[in-house]
Amino acid sequence: MISSDAIRDFVLMDEITMEKFMETLKKRFQSGKIYTYIGEVCVSVNPYRHLNIYGTDFINKYKGRELFENPPHVFAIADAAHRVLKQRHQDTCILISGESGAGKTEASKIIMKYIAAVTNIHGQSEIERVKNVLIQSNAILETFGNAKTNRNDNSSRFGKYMDIEFDYKADPVGGVITNYLLEKSRVIHQQAGERNFHSFYQLLRGSMDSDLKKYDLVKDPSKYFYTNQGSVEVLNEKNDYKSTNSAFRTLGFEKEEIDTVWRIVASILHLGNIDFQMQEDELVIANKFHLSSAARLLNVTTKDLSDALTQRVIAAGGSVMRKDHDVKSAEYGRDALAKAIYDRLFSWIVNRINRAIVFKGRQQQQRYNSVIGVLDIYGFEIFDNNSFEQFCINYCNEKLQQLFIELVLKQEQEEYQREGIEWTKIDYFNNKIICDLIEQPHKGIIAITDEACLSVGKVNDETLIGALDKNLGNHPHYTSRQLKPMDKELKHKEHFRITHYAGDVIYSIYGFIEKNKDTLYQDFKRMLHKSTDKNLSEMWPEGAQDIKATTKRPLTAGTLFQRSMVDLVQTLLKKEPFYVRCIKPNDIKSPSVFDDVRVEHQVRYLGLLENVRVRRAGFVHRQRYDKFLLRYKMISQYTWPNFRGGSDREGVKVLMDEKGFSNDIKYGKTKIFIRSPQTLFALEKQRNDMI
Ligand code: ADP
Ligand code: MG
Repeated sequence: MISSDAIRDFVLMDEITMEKFMETLKKRFQSGKIYTYIGEVCVSVNPYRHLNIYGTDFINKYKGRELFENPPHVFAIADAAHRVLKQRHQDTCILISGESGAGKTEASKIIMKYIAAVTNIHGQSEIERVKNVLIQSNAILETFGNAKTNRNDNSSRFGKYMDIEFDYKADPVGGVITNYLLEKSRVIHQQAGERNFHSFYQLLRGSMDSDLKKYDLVKDPSKYFYTNQGSVEVLNEKNDYKSTNSAFRTLGFEKEEIDTVWRIVASILHLGNIDFQMQEDELVIANKFHLSSAARLLNVTTKDLSDALTQRVIAAGGSVMRKDHDVKSAEYGRDALAKAIYDRLFSWIVNRINRAIVFKGRQQQQRYNSVIGVLDIYGFEIFDNNSFEQFCINYCNEKLQQLFIELVLKQEQEEYQREGIEWTKIDYFNNKIICDLIEQPHKGIIAITDEACLSVGKVNDETLIGALDKNLGNHPHYTSRQLKPMDKELKHKEHFRITHYAGDVIYSIYGFIEKNKDTLYQDFKRMLHKSTDKNLSEMWPEGAQDIKATTKRPLTAGTLFQRSMVDLVQTLLKKEPFYVRCIKPNDIKSPSVFDDVRVEHQVRYLGLLENVRVRRAGFVHRQRYDKFLLRYKMISQYTWPNFRGGSDREGVKVLMDEKGFSNDIKYGKTKIFIRSPQTLFALEKQRNDMI
């Protein structure tokens, strides 16, 4: 038997149990082997230290090689994805998942670096520019979309999908980034120990004093409500601010555009310091300095901003009325404004980056474009308190699991067809039932929540959970308090539980309605559209609408997210997938601690055992005849040093017959297919004994 840390592919474990899986993963991690495969899936454990495995020597070692020819590495996945694209002109995608701090974003950067290193051998300047832009775009996205959290000092607070486009020579010629669900609540609130998005601290700590004066700001983040609720720890803002601005310039952002961006960031800090008071039945803004600074930075009049913050304009029966807010609704409006401005700004930046990644002279180049999509998106989340955000994120993971099932099975099926091998059905848990529970029209959780949000009259979170329980109480993956009162876990009546494919999650209904509605008063939209800053105004096209025009209700956050997921799945379905599953070994960022409980939890939520089972239900291993022979020819007298009796296929057959493996294999057109891991295991052992 070979030792656990030598197992390069979990499919080769002698038994598929959690104990065995954990033992293998742990042994490998402890001996510095952070990557392990499940077939073509790469499982990665965050090493929390610099490993010398990403240099040019390694790039060369993996370039053009098959997965099994080298020790498992994310380079091999990147190379495989690129090779499929190059050889078969087939779009591919690399899906990276895992919980916060597990190493997803690092993996996506390593992949991009690898692709940049192995392409454009002729050094064409426009391709170099595109590569540069692709890599520099990360710096900008991280400034505006990342934050220090208790889990990760540089945590991405948005989902990111990036299509890298290639020409017919498989050199990168462009890209498109799509962003998902920025955690905008962070703009107005941070937990103890956490920070707002990096951009705020970069602006404050990185700007020259003269610039700060321009923004009416002081250097100290503890002076601003939106940056002083959690931590004001200093990271590397000074340099990062320079890098962000230099990345802006590399990407061709205009001077005015960069100016707009930072002015918006500054205005948000001022908004956060605006307070409201009731003075003799009238709502007034206490801090006029911040009001006028915010207005100036947004290029709107102080009066317009003040009005929009303190009153609502209501059109009723053809006439227009003003209604004062109370303190609470004014605060709600201010915070909603801050969140919305930032969220829009972020999307605008992403779009602007997309314009920069377009290959100049594309017309001539557009002979053949294929893409590698890289998805760096939040993994399954289960916290002590799970809310609407976790609901969306976990729904996203259900969709991706569904996609995984469809794609992996489809992929297997297609390969069997190509190779002329009979298709055997695989038994697995299909999580479509859970996707339906969430997204089915009229009947799913999203639809029921929408209905509650749209109905007039008094609807609150408790009415919503009543409706969910009533409609879904009998669903096998939904548990309501009312129907199973004996269930100890469901302590509160405002909780419901979904049995996700990866495990049970209890959601608190609190805030569902408000977060789903995600209301921004119309007055703000009109005000922002009226801004004399052209870029800012363009971010708010819907503000152009007349007050009296009947406004269509904007789509809810849940529905928008659902649509974006459906689009994403559509895009990915057309591609050949590769997976990187990231695991975080401990919560203390230690390179040596392997926390069994935490890791096992992630292995479960990533569905890795299920993954091994699906993979093993078919053929665990397939390999081209020539490569296979090259690897194992030394174990047979007939094939060592060379097989002279015919084709590689015949050589493989002679070898496998001699070794008594014939019953466990099928011979495809170009590849040998091995059904059980024991066979491969035995082959590997014999090979090890020889060398
Ligand atoms: P995620 O995107 O999954 O939240 P990150 O990719 O930001 O996590 O990784 C968190 C931190 O872990 C990084 O800032 C880095 O310090 C460390 N890390 C992750 N992957 C690697 C790696 N392959 N090598 C060295 N350090 C890593
Ligand atoms: Mg990340």
